[in-house]
Order: sequence, then structure tokens, then C-alpha cells
Amino acid sequence: ADDVALDPWGSATVDDYRKLFAQFGIEEFEEVLPEVPDPHYLMRRGVIFGHRDYRPVAEAMRNDEPFAALSGFMPTGDPHIGHKLVFDEIIWHQERGGDAYGLIADLEAHAARELSWDEIDEHARNYVLSLLALGFDPEAGELYRQSSNREVQDLGFELGAKANFSELQAIYDFDGETDVSHMQSVVTQMADILYPQLEEPKPTVIPVGPDQDPHMRLARDLAARMRYFKVTEAFASFEVDPDERAIIAEAYDALSERHPEETIRCADAARYLENERDPDATDPNATTTDSAIMMLKEAGKEPLRPRTRFLDRNATDEAFDALIEAIDGEKRVYEAHVDAFDLSREDAEELARQVEIDHGGYGFLAPSSIYHRFMTGLTGGKMSSSVPASHISLLDDPSEGYDKVKAATTGGRETAEEQRELGGKADECPVYELYAYLLAGDDDEFATEVYEECVNGERLCGGCKEQAAELMEAFLEDHQEKRAEWEEKLDELDIDFDS
Ligand code: SF4
Repeated sequence: ADDVALDPWGSATVDDYRKLFAQFGIEEFEEVLPEVPDPHYLMRRGVIFGHRDYRPVAEAMRNDEPFAALSGFMPTGDPHIGHKLVFDEIIWHQERGGDAYGLIADLEAHAARELSWDEIDEHARNYVLSLLALGFDPEAGELYRQSSNREVQDLGFELGAKANFSELQAIYDFDGETDVSHMQSVVTQMADILYPQLEEPKPTVIPVGPDQDPHMRLARDLAARMRYFKVTEAFASFEVDPDERAIIAEAYDALSERHPEETIRCADAARYLENERDPDATDPNATTTDSAIMMLKEAGKEPLRPRTRFLDRNATDEAFDALIEAIDGEKRVYEAHVDAFDLSREDAEELARQVEIDHGGYGFLAPSSIYHRFMTGLTGGKMSSSVPASHISLLDDPSEGYDKVKAATTGGRETAEEQRELGGKADECPVYELYAYLLAGDDDEFATEVYEECVNGERLCGGCKEQAAELMEAFLEDHQEKRAEWEEKLDELDIDFDS
């Protein structure tokens, strides 16, 4: 099968979502759905079709524990009904107790899309107004612009020290012509994704379209690298402080109890500590490595190189560098290693907490993501910001919204007679999508009714579109009224719209 190209700045058409599961390890949302309390209609209807590691978020929601949701909007045009999906996802997580973040990716718009600052200011304002009008609570959540968030900038700088050009080249297809600001906008985006965890590690979900997955993969890698750093830092300090050694030994013991399959790593750590304490051991590092390798072999496991190196070098900063080098050079080994280190949230938190007490620094959990389908354009093909007839802008005059729905392509048959006989093709109909993604709201019965009446031939396109057009007009009227209300209060929010 052809590879699906995922390019966050290129074509956004992904015609075969299934391929994503196999190719990039995106999991089917259906599998995690039963764990989500009172799931959003976009989840129930399969519009949100995939996820990476959403379980910790669902678990936090169920247990009333801290979690966060964040999404960024590139202010390159007017917000339209496709963007509304993401707004809704953020707001829904906020309503369920999550810390919610909406950010304006102005640096990215400027660097990757070359928009002027004046254009960006105007679009930024429009995005924020729609997000607020749809129900985002700015008191409980946070809205910010990348360019004016100092903490994000600082974090981006630090993350930049953990990424290099070849890596960005491989992930984003950058080449010698790629400008430095574009690269900077990437690390800024990584910082955005990890920003909700700056104060404390917590499960964080980033709702995105599948084309944004490269960002997620890099962010998850970087989060893991920052975590290694913490653990390594802690190890380095054992050499001088026996109390801290004991803390980590305990942490490892706790881990080993909960995860028998992790016992080997715990045994390594224990052996390491034991040798360190043994004054007669002339070459503690060699002994540690040898015995660890022996233990691994006895258990029928191949020793992993990074793990061995980790022990070899006494887990000093130097070892950390070597580890990262080994990791970068060997993707496969890296993944195995990440697996080995990808602890459950509870364990990672516990470890992070223990380490954090004395060392500060970061204890990021790998951020999670959920993926939604792209809406089909009203004229068929893909919905595009640059083709006005293909989408309905949240700023469109309600009567214009009405007209666009009336003019939309349908999945209907050539004649009414044929439609009654064979039924319409709701699955290929942009108008049905409008119902399922937006117009039916939370009312599953209504969405199902439209679908069934269509495929059973009881619904004809003329009337169906008229109904959809009226609902769209009413939605836009209501939305724009709320926007106007927020417009008056916008100055009270501390967001800078004049760059
Ligand atoms: Fe689409 Fe409605 Fe026609 Fe069915 S009846 S094909 S849902 S417009």
C-alpha cells in the first residue's frame, strides 16, 4: 500500500484513515470509547476516529484527577465550521474538568505561511471570539498568543536543545532552504504542547486533524527525552547522596512490584546501587553491566544497547548524551527503550514526584492526541479555507450560510424516483456530514433519523437541504450574536491583538 503522507503544512487530504493505524500507530478511537465518561457526540459518531494514548486522559476524567486539553489555531483565515470541531473538543474537555488552553499559533502563521502581522492580528481576534462564543470559559482556561507567552518561548528554547536539524528534516521534510524561523516555530509548537504540564505533569490531550500527527510524534519524543534527563539527573546525584539513592531504589522497588515484567530493569538498578555500596568492588561499573547482561540473558531477553550504556557510564550526564546519541541513531532500539521507560501515568508521576522534590526540572508525561476526520467540502472534495464555496465561515452572513447549504453537492440519486427506490448515499453526502458533525448537535436520534430516512429512500435531497440550510442559518445567527456579546468584553481579557 502507498504510504500516507502527513504534512502539517501541505495538502490536508488523507483519504484512507485506516492506513494511519498501521503506518503511524494511531489507535482506533472505538477501542477507548467505553472508557470515556459520557463521550462527546463527535466521539460517539466516529468523527473522532483515532487517538494516541488517550487512556490516561479518560482515566483522569473518570477519577476527577487533573488533566489538560490544548489546541492551537493558526490564524491564516476566518475560522470555519471545520475548525468548530476542534473548538468543541477543547470546550468539552474543559466542561469535564480539564485545564483548557486555546492558543493562537501566530509565529507559525508568520513563519510557515508568511502572513503579515496585521492579517494575523485580525484573524487571531476572530478565532478567539468564536472559541468564546462556543462556550470556552476564559476564567477557568487560558488563551494566549505564542509570541507573547514568555514561558512558552523559554520552554521552546530548552526543547530546541533536545532536537536537531536532521531530525526536523526527517519529520517535516525540511531542506537547506528552510528558514530558521520555521524551525523555531516548530520548537515553539512543541513548547505549546507541553506547556500545560509546566507546573506539574498531567495527562494532556491535543485534539488535531491527522495531518498534525508529525507534531505529536515529535512532542512525545521530546517529552520522553526531558523525562530521561530527570531520571538521569537523579542517578547522577546518587553518587553523592545516599539518601537520594535510597529514594530511587524505593521508587524502583515500587515499580517492580507493580510491573513484574519490569523486574529486570529494577534488578539492574538494585544491582547498580548494591555495587556502588560495596567498597570491595574494584570495578563496579563493569560488574554491574556484566551482571545485568547475565540477568537479561538468563531471563531470555536480549540486552538493549542503550540500557547497557546507561549502566556503563554510571548514568552521568555524559551517559545521558551517549544514550540520546544511541537513541537517535537507532530508531528501533529507541522505541524499545521508550517502551521500557513508558511507565504508567501513576508510576511516572510517582517517579517524577520523587525526583522533582530535590531537583526541579521537567517530568513531562507523553502528551496524548485525538484525531478527527476532515469535513468534506460543500462542493465535494476537501473543505478549504481558500475556497469560500467549499466551507461555511463562522463569520458568513447567516443568509449566505443558508445559500451555501442549498447549493451543496449531495449524495442523492439522479431522480426522485431513483432516490425513493435505492435510497441516497448519506455516507458520501456533505449535507449529511453537516447534520452529523454540527446541525444535529448532541441529538443522536435526529442524526440517525436523517441517515436512515436517507438511505431508505424516505428523504429527498431538496427537503433535506432546506432543513439543513435553515438549521445552519439559525446556528450562524446564534453564534454571531454570542460573538458580538464577547466582542464587547474582549478587552477585559488579557490577550494582545496588536502585534
Ligand atoms: Fe444527502 Fe439528505 Fe440527499 Fe441524503 S437526502 S443524499 S443526506 S442531501
